Amino acid sequence: MSTATTKRPTEPICPPWCDGHDGKFQAWETMTAGGISRDHSHFSPVRGGNDLGVAVCRTEYEPGGLDLSEVLIFCGSDSASLTPAQARVFALRVLEAVELAEGETGAHA
Ligand SMILES: [Zn+2]
Repeated sequence: MSTATTKRPTEPICPPWCDGHDGKFQAWETMTAGGISRDHSHFSPVRGGNDLGVAVCRTEYEPGGLDLSEVLIFCGSDSASLTPAQARVFALRVLEAVELAEGETGAHA
């Protein structure tokens, strides 16, 4: 995943791939447990729209700091949060399925 290019402002704490922040996008939000948090993320769509894609995300807490990076898999309105190692296995499983499907149909994109 390459470094994001964003027109939104970024800050020194932002990871290099952060899509930036404005008043609504990745803004500070109050957590139900108290305190505030915001996401630093970069979304890569698989097809048009935002219903299917992959994001890398680190959540920042105030006070407290920054979580480790997570990989978010979006499908429809649902998402799955994976560790980088789990995301790697997921990607391999997708590629395995692609190879099986292409072998069956002879299709190559
Ligand atoms: Zn950021």
